[in-house]
Amino acid sequence: MKLPRYSNSIGLYIHVPFCRTKCIYCSFYSEVNFDLHDRYVSSLIKEMELYSKRFRNRTFSTIYIGGGTPSLLNSRQIGRIFEVLRQNFQFEDQVEIAIEANPESVTPEIVKGWKDLGINRVSLGVQSAHDDELKFLGRIHDVAMAEQAIRIIENGGISNFNIDLIFGIPGQTVEKFKESIEWAVSHGAKHISTYSLTVEKGTILHKLLENGKVKLPGEEEFREMYRIREEVLSRYGFKRYEISNFALPGFESRHNRIYWFHGEYLGLGPSAASFVYSPQIVRWQNDANLIEYIDSLSQGNFPPLGEDFVNRSSLLLERIFLYIRTSKGISRELADFVFSKDRSIKRFFECDDTDCRLNFEGMMVADTLSLEIYQILEPHQDLIEL
Ligand code: SF4
Repeated sequence: MKLPRYSNSIGLYIHVPFCRTKCIYCSFYSEVNFDLHDRYVSSLIKEMELYSKRFRNRTFSTIYIGGGTPSLLNSRQIGRIFEVLRQNFQFEDQVEIAIEANPESVTPEIVKGWKDLGINRVSLGVQSAHDDELKFLGRIHDVAMAEQAIRIIENGGISNFNIDLIFGIPGQTVEKFKESIEWAVSHGAKHISTYSLTVEKGTILHKLLENGKVKLPGEEEFREMYRIREEVLSRYGFKRYEISNFALPGFESRHNRIYWFHGEYLGLGPSAASFVYSPQIVRWQNDANLIEYIDSLSQGNFPPLGEDFVNRSSLLLERIFLYIRTSKGISRELADFVFSKDRSIKRFFECDDTDCRLNFEGMMVADTLSLEIYQILEPHQDLIEL
């Protein structure tokens, strides 16, 4: 039985740890201190130079600038980053270069700078097409600003853009979520990511829920939101290629496919994670602390990080978690082995001759199911070629 690595590509991720304000649900690492932008860029450049020796012989397929809010960097700062990137790393001719942006910080000047640097994909954090929901989430843009940002991006010559949407917002109805999806489609998105609102400890949202100030939609409404999402997006020609991600043909995110298909990536910037197969299978993550990041690099050292050598068992676990969320799924042979050990799992999959992927019921319980499958396979690891 096989559970191979599906992606042989390597991607480069840069984390930009700045936001204008903190959204009430967000647990990503970001700072609101604008004075540190230039020092961050200088440190990032030093980090690139330190890693360039190790990755000298690798050719990257993608660059993804995420955050935080990368669109807060001005043209000069982003220009410096790209200059050093191109001096220190090699990229495929058709490299995908994506940047995340929030509507309020998209200007014609910034988009022109992106286009000149070769950025060919924008991921826009719109989240909802309803002002009341945006306000609740603590976003600083409204729907009119999102529409303007889309016009600027398209007029700037970047037609490949994703719109992020959130569902399961307190007070949101199925109808309102459907309207947000239709809004994104009608505004020309080629890719739509729809994430259910997750409640992370330490966020304002977590407190509001704990104190009973707000309530999440019920389970039935959640199911209906999942269902309506599939129905509307498939009607407009979008294909789901991962539980939360839909694209028109040819517009899948190449960078995200590297993560989901267990390829390699180098992450730069505070809190960024990396994963490589050689000389050993190892993942590491920079600490989420901008000041320590700047201090270490100013002394010529790698930023503080946590490192994990990945053994067979965790490789198996990760691949199950990642693969069953994708529309490729896992091989029929492997799935049949799992079903032979626990027949009840079969009802969560649909299979063809070669692969099995989650059906609608399976998607509702993907994480629990992944763990169950791992527990079944773990004692039989020797039979699985990873
Ligand atoms: S803009 Fe994005 S990264 Fe920044 S606080 Fe909001 S959700 Fe988090």
